[in-house]
Amino acid sequence: MRIIYTDAYLVDIGSHVFPTEKYGMVRDLLLKNDGFKEENFIQPTLAKDEDILLVHAKSYLDKFKAGRLSIQEQLRLELPHSKELVRASLLCAGGSIMAAKLALKNAIGIHLGGGFHHAFPDHGEGFCVFNDIAIAIRRLKKDGLIKRAMVIDCDLHQGNGTAYIFQDDKDVFTFSIHQENNYPSPKPPSSLDIGLEDGAGDTRYLEELNKNIPERIKDFKPDLIIYVAGADPYKEDQIGNLSLSIDGLKKRDEFVFEAGTKFHVPVCVVLAGGYAVKKEDTATIHYNTIKTGLRYEQ
Ligand SMILES: [Zn+2]
Repeated sequence: MRIIYTDAYLVDIGSHVFPTEKYGMVRDLLLKNDGFKEENFIQPTLAKDEDILLVHAKSYLDKFKAGRLSIQEQLRLELPHSKELVRASLLCAGGSIMAAKLALKNAIGIHLGGGFHHAFPDHGEGFCVFNDIAIAIRRLKKDGLIKRAMVIDCDLHQGNGTAYIFQDDKDVFTFSIHQENNYPSPKPPSSLDIGLEDGAGDTRYLEELNKNIPERIKDFKPDLIIYVAGADPYKEDQIGNLSLSIDGLKKRDEFVFEAGTKFHVPVCVVLAGGYAVKKEDTATIHYNTIKTGLRYEQ
C-alpha cells in the first residue's frame, strides 16, 4: 500500500471553489479507516525542468516559476501565483511520474493529487498549471518504459489540454467522458470524446463506459492507462451537472480498474477536480477511488 502524497499540495489559494484541503482530508480518511500509516505515503520529488519541457514551452515554465505571468494569463489559470503554488505544481508533475512508474510495478499506481488536464504546452488554465498526465506519459515513453498509453479521463470537464497535446501522437489514445455543455469551450478533439447531456446520471454514464472502454483497450493495447478520476460528475457539484451518485462514481472506479486488470494493463490514477457543496463529499469520492484502486494492487 503506497500512495504518492505530500502536504505541500494544500496550497493556500484564498477563498476559492477549488478546495486544496481535500488532499489532506483524503489522507486523514485513509489514516483513520484503513490502517494506513505515515510510511504508506511517499513524498513526490520535484519534476525537473527536463520533465516539464517534454510537454511545456520553456517560455511558459520560466515565466511561471519567476511569477511573471501576465494578468490575462493569471485570469486564465484562475489561481493566485505564489511560491507554494510553484512548488506544489512541480511536485505534482513529479508525483504523477512516480505513480505511473508504481503502476508498472504493482499494476496500480495511486497519486493522491494530479489530473491537471486543462494545462496546454504554452499556458495554464482552469486551475491547471502543468499537465502532469502528459508529462508522466512522455517521461515514461522517453525512458523506454512504455510505448503506448491511454488516458481515461472521467472528470466532469473535457480534457482539452491533454487532447491538444496528444492530437498528433499515434501512441497515445485520449478518451474523455464529460458534460458537453460546460467548460472548456472550444473542446479540441480527443481520440474519443463522449459529451454527455446535462443531468445524465449513473446508468447512462456507466452504459457509455461499458460500450466504449473495454473495446478501446482491447484494440489499442496500451502499456499504461492513466485514469483521471475527477469527483466533479457528482450530483451535488457546484460547477457541474452530470448527476452521478457517490455509489455511481464508485462503480465507475471499479469499472476502470476492472477493465485494466482484465486486459493486463497497469492503471495509474490521478484525482483531478471536485467541487461538491460539502467538501467532505469530494473527499469521500476521492477516498473511494483510492480504496477501490488498492484492491487491484498486485
Ligand atoms: Zn473538472
